[in-house]
Amino acid sequence: MEVTHQLTSTDRSSNYDVIVIGGGPAGSTAAALVAESRHKVLVLEREHFPRFKIGESLMPGTYWTLKRLGVLDKMKQSGFPKKYSVQFYSRSGRPSAPFYFYENNPHESSKTWQVLRSEFDQMLLENAREKGADVRHGVSVLDVLFEDGKAVGVRARMPDKSVQEFVAKVIVDASGQSALLSRKLQMNHTEPKLKKASIYTHFEGGLRDEGVDEGATIIYHTQNQESWFWYIPLPRDTVSVGVVGSLDYLLQNRNEPPQKIFEDELEICPALRPRLANAEQLFPVKTTKDFSYRASQLAGDGWVLVGDAFGFVDPIYSSGVFLALKSGELAADSINEAFERDDFSGAQLGKFGRDFLQGMGAIRKLVYAFYSKEFSFGKFLKKFPECRNDIVNILIGNVFRQDVNGLFESMSEMCDLPEDYKLELN
Ligand SMILES: Cc1cc2nc3c(=O)[nH]c(=O)nc-3n(C[C@H](O)[C@H](O)[C@H](O)COP(=O)(O)OP(=O)(O)OC[C@H]3O[C@@H](n4cnc5c(N)ncnc54)[C@H](O)[C@@H]3O)c2cc1C
Repeated sequence: MEVTHQLTSTDRSSNYDVIVIGGGPAGSTAAALVAESRHKVLVLEREHFPRFKIGESLMPGTYWTLKRLGVLDKMKQSGFPKKYSVQFYSRSGRPSAPFYFYENNPHESSKTWQVLRSEFDQMLLENAREKGADVRHGVSVLDVLFEDGKAVGVRARMPDKSVQEFVAKVIVDASGQSALLSRKLQMNHTEPKLKKASIYTHFEGGLRDEGVDEGATIIYHTQNQESWFWYIPLPRDTVSVGVVGSLDYLLQNRNEPPQKIFEDELEICPALRPRLANAEQLFPVKTTKDFSYRASQLAGDGWVLVGDAFGFVDPIYSSGVFLALKSGELAADSINEAFERDDFSGAQLGKFGRDFLQGMGAIRKLVYAFYSKEFSFGKFLKKFPECRNDIVNILIGNVFRQDVNGLFESMSEMCDLPEDYKLELN
């Protein structure tokens, strides 16, 4: 690994055990669980919270990390709509039966929430602060500093525009899609088959179903099957609506403003339109693109990647926050153990990599199936009804178990699935 900067001894005034870059769900989880073990943690977050963020639908599997973080009561008391299921509409407008998460296990962990990320992320970061992390806002990390191939600190622009260096035993990159460290080390790889873009906004007054289906995520294919919409009920009668398609199809090959593209896509999604007939758009559409990528390495000497800073698969199954929380939790365990053993090697910090990747890989395979024109959930389950529980397991986030890959043999009869992830393990 390249050595890019040398710290001088006078720089070493701000010493921490662990520095976390970014205070999103991954960073605040890692920070909370390391601070709880009485290590000195600094979180550097460039934004002032609350801030808008897309990624509002949780997977039920978040329950266990939220429980460990001690925030379940806050979630239960929040006004976040409860999500019991996800449902898919085909290009012809035919709905699948909803996939109710409690089908597999009627436990309270089999439901989850649709969250306003401004409030959810702030609550998690506040929790890290309450557990002892030193959280600084308005601080932009410019670089990770290495000595002899080992990460030793960061250089950051402070709110007053001065540049300061901080030193720590472990640097956690939780910078989300900025993926600060993996881009610096040139080990960030995009997924050519998942080169997507998205256009999204919020509406007030969108139609919801009743009872247990009120907070459901609904996924609608458009008629030409080149794109799909999410419909995610949020607090205060708002709903998040976004369209996802290949970058070429949705943005690059079209000469229109994103708002017009969004409306045109809605035109070819007749199953969704009635829900928005009397709804008011709350802010101009936003766009994002090229969000699916992964680093070829999860950790190195003195550093570890968590959440989107390591990788992101695709928004279709709402797995982003789940994987961010999970990797933040697993990284915290590796870091706490690193302090016990006085071993800050990449092998120690990234020891959760193999299991984590297997789980992330299962979600990725189901993503590939979703985008395959030969596949639909309805068709697949008609042929292989015994696979329904396996699918529900993945939609829940029960992906860190040995038998999770059982259904892919059957699925590969219907569509092409990717090879397993490969990771350069330390
Ligand atoms: C279109 C789309 C829809 C999605 N929908 C869903 C969904 O429904 N459900 C779901 O679970 N996931 C969804 N996701 C994914 C989800 O948003 C992310 O996976 C999740 O936010 C990752 O959390 P994180 O903590 O890793 O990163 P983030 O939440 O992005 O947090 C990173 C933080 O780091 C800070 N930061 C960045 N660079 C620096 C720096 N240099 N210095 C200091 N701070 C820095 C940022 O300000 C940010 O606060 C979606 C993603 C996309 C693209």
